[in-house]
Amino acid sequence: MRTKRRITRAYCVELGEELTIGGARQAYFNQNQPRSRFLFQCSSPECRALKVVPKITGVNYDIHPTEKSRVKSPHYKDNEHYAHHAECEWVLPDEDEGSDAPLPGETELQTRTRLAKRHLTSVIDIFVPPTQPEEPVARPPRVAPGNDEAGPDHRRDGGGTEGTRTDRKHRTRDLRELVDYYQESRDTLKDLFPEVTINVAGRGVIPLRSYFKKVVWARPDTAGYVYNGGGRIERREGAGFVFSFFDKVADKDAFLHVSDEVMTQHRSRRYVNELLDQARLVKYFTFYFLGTFTYHEASDTMVAQVTDLRCLAIDLGPLRS
Ligand SMILES: [Zn+2]
Repeated sequence: MRTKRRITRAYCVELGEELTIGGARQAYFNQNQPRSRFLFQCSSPECRALKVVPKITGVNYDIHPTEKSRVKSPHYKDNEHYAHHAECEWVLPDEDEGSDAPLPGETELQTRTRLAKRHLTSVIDIFVPPTQPEEPVARPPRVAPGNDEAGPDHRRDGGGTEGTRTDRKHRTRDLRELVDYYQESRDTLKDLFPEVTINVAGRGVIPLRSYFKKVVWARPDTAGYVYNGGGRIERREGAGFVFSFFDKVADKDAFLHVSDEVMTQHRSRRYVNELLDQARLVKYFTFYFLGTFTYHEASDTMVAQVTDLRCLAIDLGPLRS
């Protein structure tokens, strides 16, 4: 059978585990050079028991996100040469059963937004900030109680899978994935973009747009936003680094510090290093991070710290000419 839903997880043959597309990108860049692309198969246990296991194509997870000449966001795509099992999780219809008609209680604008979102390569319904403990959420009753393959505890951290197979909401803890979704929906949906909402764990449902804040609008000691802004790597201190934003915060020069310790301990450090190594080639970086600016008296500057690399996503700016 053909898949009907957007594929948000796939089984990586080389690593022997399920990955979101964000997890695939991180795993790819964590390899030593020369890196090789992965083979992906359908994540459904029913499909993986088939004689011919359906392959899944991972698109653009092996290139760096850049601001200009943006290629399509990384995503998984069904490979049309393979047939899926009738019980495959991606063959089940979407929550709206593919309806083009307004759903009960939906405004005209919400219907248009729902239909427009079908053109996106990925959709995120729930974002769990990486430093926040997973909180219990109301899940739909399990369809097949005898199937212990995907119990409610079937979760992994980082780039692993979230939620159950019957839960059709896409949930992620990956900031990079959230940034990709933000950028793609902003650029694709245009005037409908303000209608796009997201459920942020600990916050509830908010407009996606309102969760992102440019550094220039940041207020000191205020958390709860994905701050973003362009800038340059100021200096590297051992493995750590200092990033200097072009914009000021509360009229002070603004910096982001990542300590030596954080850079040597975290499992995605190689991926982050790989991006920072492009500093000579690009005019600037755009940093997205979850954190807080605080006033640093000795230097009369505003400083934010990232103590968990999962709270940081980096876009490469345009190449130097
Ligand atoms: Zn399948």
